Amino acid sequence: MKTKTIVIVEDNELNLELAIDLLEIHGYNVLGIRSAEEALHLIARLQPDLVLMDIALPGMDGLEAAKRLKSDEKTVHIPVVVVSAHAMQGDRESAVSAGCAGYMTKPIQTRTFVQSIEKLMEEIDDLRIGSR
Ligand code: MN
Repeated sequence: MKTKTIVIVEDNELNLELAIDLLEIHGYNVLGIRSAEEALHLIARLQPDLVLMDIALPGMDGLEAAKRLKSDEKTVHIPVVVVSAHAMQGDRESAVSAGCAGYMTKPIQTRTFVQSIEKLMEEIDDLRIGSR
């Protein structure tokens, strides 16, 4: 199977390092990026299999970035999963209406993080097959 590439947009250094480590251990190509503005260009160029998007970012927030990815023909097909620190009422709904394929909450659970992402990716693949 082809190695999957995941882009993580996260401004918190510790969260970013933890997420990268966990995914790399499981054989993924991972690229971390700290701002949404930079991420938009990179994602269009890199065409990753998945984007993990923090909501609270300096400058453009993650939901706005997700909306832009979903309104650009170069990136509309790339699934975006929001990873939110605020388990706030309404965040999940905002993520869905921004076109995101999934939603996870922080703090990152070391033992289940990768498993949760793999489950989400399977669900996304199933939806794609179902809509063909
Ligand atoms: Mn943040």
